[in-house]
Amino acid sequence: MSHTNAEITEGIRAKAAELLSSGEVAVFLGFIEGSIPMTLRPFVARRPEDAERFVWNSFCVMNLANYLPSLLKSLEPPRGLRDPVPAGPLPKVGVVATGCWSRNIVVQMQERQVDRKRLVILGVSSRGMVDRKKVMAMTGGREIFKVEEGEHTLKISGSDYGLEIDRWSVVRDNCKSCVHPDPVIFDYKIGPDSNRKADDRFAQIEVIEAMTVDERWAWFKNEIASCIRCYACRNACPLCYCPTCFVDDSRPQWVGKSIDPTDTALFHILRAFHCAGRCTDCGACESACPMGIKMRLFTKKLEKDVFELFGVEAGLDPLIQPPLVTYRPDDPQGFVIIKEKNKA
Ligand code: SF4
Ligand code: SF4
Ligand code: SF4
Repeated sequence: MSHTNAEITEGIRAKAAELLSSGEVAVFLGFIEGSIPMTLRPFVARRPEDAERFVWNSFCVMNLANYLPSLLKSLEPPRGLRDPVPAGPLPKVGVVATGCWSRNIVVQMQERQVDRKRLVILGVSSRGMVDRKKVMAMTGGREIFKVEEGEHTLKISGSDYGLEIDRWSVVRDNCKSCVHPDPVIFDYKIGPDSNRKADDRFAQIEVIEAMTVDERWAWFKNEIASCIRCYACRNACPLCYCPTCFVDDSRPQWVGKSIDPTDTALFHILRAFHCAGRCTDCGACESACPMGIKMRLFTKKLEKDVFELFGVEAGLDPLIQPPLVTYRPDDPQGFVIIKEKNKA
């Protein structure tokens, strides 16, 4: 384990154990080792001794904010759908948060999905998480038995090979274009600040924008062609807490449920627009996809548009409303097509 990861792992274990022992939090949400290499899984510690299982490394790719709304509700006394939230102090949740996860927590605060008073946030700066699909591509399809992370390298081994690769070369695309790796809100900070800032955060989008309309449509259709509509991308997303998602509704049925190209395209376009002005480019959706679809680029394009049109980035300020849920008379409206009367 790298020196930085060891320091952060120890910090998380110690603070989580302290918070659980003192009763300040009822549960603590972090990561533990998964069952296969390069896979960590979210874990809810309920006893101080559980905190020893927490781990931190470059494979913490799921966004922990995703679990907060339901975890907080699970700690409340049972109540009916229309009953008010019970009065009085309710149990708190401790959670680890990087730059993008902390911004998703801010979005959830803006959208009244989490109560800041019930969270104890342990901020960790991200060095960029690793894309396991990129690592697997480097092994030529050979099975990976073990991955050891150093400060700047990954040592990979299988039954008949060993390989050392540069860590940054396999970091996820969203992390490489990140401009907010340090947590924006936290109660305690573990490990060093990152201060890393991508030079051109929208470079991937500019390549697609430079295409003709026909080329873009062909790129989009090709990108989603292998989608199996498993919804792992939606389920991994901290913005997707709707009690009934539009894809699951049958009355009315907003979108067909097949893998017909039209149904699939509609699913992706609608989901992306639901995330406009809210997405933090955390990359959890893309990491969860079993088919390697780069659906993050759809939301990244909308992130760019919202930034250019409204000058707003998601989740930086808990006191403002996301641009698409509020209205200003001087909002840009160049995209509105007004058909004048008496014109052909
Ligand atoms: S895709 Fe849209 S409707 Fe479905 S859970 Fe996400 S935000 Fe809600
Ligand atoms: S759409 Fe993807 S990148 Fe954006 S917040 Fe959701 S999981 Fe993260
Ligand atoms: S996770 Fe991938 S395959 Fe599953 S619905 Fe999303 S894009 Fe399609």
